[in-house]
Amino acid sequence: MRLILLGPPGVGKGTQAKGLAVERGLAHISTGEMLRAAVAAGTALGKQVQAVMDSGHLVSDELMVQVIQDRFSQPDCAKGYILDGFPRTLPQAHALDAMLSSDGQKIDAVILFELDEEQLKQRLAGRRGAEARADDDVNVQLERLRVYKAQTEPLVSHYKKVGSLKSVDANGSIEQVAERFRKVLDT
Ligand code: AMP
Repeated sequence: MRLILLGPPGVGKGTQAKGLAVERGLAHISTGEMLRAAVAAGTALGKQVQAVMDSGHLVSDELMVQVIQDRFSQPDCAKGYILDGFPRTLPQAHALDAMLSSDGQKIDAVILFELDEEQLKQRLAGRRGAEARADDDVNVQLERLRVYKAQTEPLVSHYKKVGSLKSVDANGSIEQVAERFRKVLDT
């Protein structure tokens, strides 16, 4: 099974991805986590992306496509994966479509986690300080929301057109959302 999780920062898709990956033996591919690990390890990639990440903006499509291509070549992806944080722009979605179709593969479902803006802001506020992320400063969080709307939200209509988009209401507890997520996946 190959899945894409979509949704704004703070919606809880990382938590849901982790749970499902363990349960179904899928690789959890979080590009944000991969980049943060590269920054922490001080690799060439980390040095290249740190300033952009700290500002709440997106790393270039070219670099991200390279990162994801390398990740797909690792053996744990053969059993299926959950993409969490990629694609984030239309060019990334098109690059992914091309990569998969050249291997005769496809995405089984794109899951959009939905939450109204007030709730999102509350969740992001709760995350400030709770997780030691450099991009959890309030202004950076707001910038990340703005970037999501401008650059990532267009993927919703892209995947609607392709016919693979399903929505999950992200209100409520982690367990409630997990249950809705399973229902949507299994129907
Ligand atoms: P995340 O943990 O998914 O919220 O990602 C944290 C940060 O990493 C983002 O704000 C971006 O700066 C960068 N990033 C992660 N994934 C991507 C991507 N697919 N394209 C561009 N930048 C990304």
